[in-house]
Amino acid sequence: MRRTQLDKVLKILITETPAPVTKEGQFWFATPVNYTVDWKRVETLKKMRHQEQQRMTEYLHTQKCLMAFLARELDDPQPSPCGRCASCLEKPLIPPTFSEKRAIEAEQFFKQHNMQIIEPRKQWPTIEGLGDWKGKNIAPTLRAEQGRVLCMWGDAGWGKWVRRGKQQEGHFDEHLVTAAAELIQQEWHPTPRWVTCVPSYNHPSLIPDFTQELAKALKLPFVPIIRKIRPTLPQKEMQNSYQQAHNLVNAFTVEPCMQEPVLLVDDMVDSRWTLTIIAALLREAGSGPVFPFALAMTSPHFS
Ligand SMILES: [Zn+2]
Repeated sequence: MRRTQLDKVLKILITETPAPVTKEGQFWFATPVNYTVDWKRVETLKKMRHQEQQRMTEYLHTQKCLMAFLARELDDPQPSPCGRCASCLEKPLIPPTFSEKRAIEAEQFFKQHNMQIIEPRKQWPTIEGLGDWKGKNIAPTLRAEQGRVLCMWGDAGWGKWVRRGKQQEGHFDEHLVTAAAELIQQEWHPTPRWVTCVPSYNHPSLIPDFTQELAKALKLPFVPIIRKIRPTLPQKEMQNSYQQAHNLVNAFTVEPCMQEPVLLVDDMVDSRWTLTIIAALLREAGSGPVFPFALAMTSPHFS
């Protein structure tokens, strides 16, 4: 289970009387209560929620006063029409059409403002295969620097370009190269001295091709020295941090490398474990500070 799902389940269980779980400090414990699910209550609640959903759909389609509809939902027996809503005025409150100029401005806004930060992870998970690193703080000399992401996956700015490149065209457009290069030059002074990328089994040329173009735009050498030595499952299929990190341990090797700051490129960032592990391997192989860059962030759950 995902951590967030687990938390939800536990928070529901602790409100039961008698409760099958208890919490002390930050730890959860099972109690001796022989818990059985009250399916009748579950059904009643489910029915109520469906009725509420039904009412919301009606609200979307009603021709009558919207404020009166809401007032009735909140138990006002005789609401009068408000005279100000779209139904009362019989016209939309926001223009349903927009100019092309406006659309372009909106897209520009997204392209410029959806840059995201990747905060480096600071602690190794408690899993086997990490040797001395297991459960410890990541030494500052092995940590990634704060990284940058061009956009959110699928957003209305660069996000749709990234999705199209990955899912339809099989390569990332040169406009993405230019945008990435501009962002990197703006954000990092001095910029890293060489460029490498995260390898992939499923799309063996997608990221290296993009990274090569990016390196050329930055006038830096592209040195693909990271190798994937066994396939991994997509990070998004892993349910929690433990599984994600476990999936990646021992998946990569890095050759000895230049003792200069390096730009580490990937297309997508989600759990940050890939970048965390590769950054540590690069530092161990002798590189300077590692600056992660990804084209898109797949979920906005960390900052
Ligand atoms: Zn009204």
